Amino acid sequence: MNKDKVYINKVIELFKLISEGVENIKCPNCGSENARIFYTKSRKDRYGIWVRCEDCKNIEHADTKISPVGFDEKKINKRFQDMDDHAWRKADELVRRKNKN
Ligand SMILES: [Zn+2]
Repeated sequence: MNKDKVYINKVIELFKLISEGVENIKCPNCGSENARIFYTKSRKDRYGIWVRCEDCKNIEHADTKISPVGFDEKKINKRFQDMDDHAWRKADELVRRKNKN
């Protein structure tokens, strides 16, 4: 996948809309309206917003410190939550190692 500047700007705009509560979104990759929003909750004050396109299977992810407008515990996706937890554990490990040295 070619993540060029135009695409990156589309993704930035997409997450901005989602954080403002817009739910009618389009896939930044193929333009399909079959893009779904999911959430994860990683830490007390950290949320993940995930967009998965049902057509091209493109997945985008952003972290935010502010609870997204559309956030709902019921919209937490187990698979994405596992991916998020894994990433956070890795980050914790890196910090621990860095503090040891
Ligand atoms: Zn798509």
